[in-house]
Amino acid sequence: MYTQSTSLFERAKKLIPGGVNSPVRAFKGVGGTPVFMKSAKGAYMYDVDGNRYIDYINSWGPMIMGHAYEPVVKAIQEYATYSTSFGAPTELEIKIAELIISMVPNIEQVRMVNSGTEACMSALRLARGYTGRNKFIKFEGNYHGHADSFLVSAGSGVATLEIQSVPGVTQTVAADTLTAPYNNLPAVEKLVEEHPDQIAAIIVEPVAGNMGCILPQQDFLQGLRSLCDQHNILLIFDEVMTGFRLARGGAQELFNIKADLVTFGKIIGAGMPVGAFAGSTEIMEHVAPAGKVYQAGTLSGNPIAMIAGYTLLQTLNENPDIYRQLAEKGAYLAGGLQSVFSAAGIVHQVNSLGSMLSVHFAEYPIINFESASGANNELFKHFFHAMLERGIYLPPSAFESWFLSNALTTEDLDATIAAAKASIAVIT
Ligand code: PLP
Repeated sequence: MYTQSTSLFERAKKLIPGGVNSPVRAFKGVGGTPVFMKSAKGAYMYDVDGNRYIDYINSWGPMIMGHAYEPVVKAIQEYATYSTSFGAPTELEIKIAELIISMVPNIEQVRMVNSGTEACMSALRLARGYTGRNKFIKFEGNYHGHADSFLVSAGSGVATLEIQSVPGVTQTVAADTLTAPYNNLPAVEKLVEEHPDQIAAIIVEPVAGNMGCILPQQDFLQGLRSLCDQHNILLIFDEVMTGFRLARGGAQELFNIKADLVTFGKIIGAGMPVGAFAGSTEIMEHVAPAGKVYQAGTLSGNPIAMIAGYTLLQTLNENPDIYRQLAEKGAYLAGGLQSVFSAAGIVHQVNSLGSMLSVHFAEYPIINFESASGANNELFKHFFHAMLERGIYLPPSAFESWFLSNALTTEDLDATIAAAKASIAVIT
């Protein structure tokens, strides 16, 4: 069934560390051999052995309209004939900046980069440069990319591989990263009190997606906002996952809370390597060449990446009903899965918001990294493989959110719920 994938993985392991170019893809969290993909269209991916999957990863978020979304494909084809890169400014960069600023609240300027990692790394540097302070607070199990400062108590692949302390990240760098449990405002207040006038920023995934999907509890985000205001700390919303996914204006719009800096990735590039960070003119003008906080990129604002992102963002901007449709699909799937698990007598938590969702096999609410880590990961592994065999492609780790695309039909969702029922029947 996976003959070609198995032989490709053997070849890849000799040439690429662990056989993959990003750790979670290697199925380390669930065991077994990763599936090598060949093509994808809409809600489906096809592997090299000819198996079809309903996709709940969607390239870890970007493919919100499904794979090979025609307007994006067409735009890329057209622009590729102009040049794949100029290394000089284009009007397209102005148009995407105008569009992003019109969609997202509280931002006046945006800088395009090439990944979510770069976006978060640059936003942190800017916060430090702007405030003249070195330390910052992040949350256990949140992931902000692989820049050194963020690889402390990180979620996603770092959590999946159970890496406590990442070799290569110096203690000096790590010492400036303060961590608190997600959804624990008193712990953040304590850190702020213990480090007066030293904290440049608090960075948070407004809805966490890197320890499974975890929602902010009532008043958590607002509490962070107030704390930042009281102590002149910048609040950074890492919207690499939530931006343009939970609402047109992301979590800031959804929760009506203002962040000082916002980072983006994933959907902003429609599957091309793109990230961005944004904020008020007053803060952003500290970025070079307007200011002295240096940040640059040979391929930043790349025309192919920009036209892909611009085309997808236009679709989302012009069709806000997409968010209602996605939320309906998310709620339908969450409800269906809950019914399956309940009927089978399996303790479970299905956390979902809009088109983000995850399953933890636990009897208590999953509100932070500690509770996520205590869930029954063995059962998740079996569930993952049973679903894969039934043509459902889930993230290969309980520490990752599922992402729905709007290409999913009710039939796809019903097929997924039926597969969950059949999977549970064979693994329990
Ligand atoms: N921030 C968040 C919330 C993420 O989920 C990710 C990646 O999954 C990143 C930052 C890093 O983005 P990238 O993988 O594009 O570097």
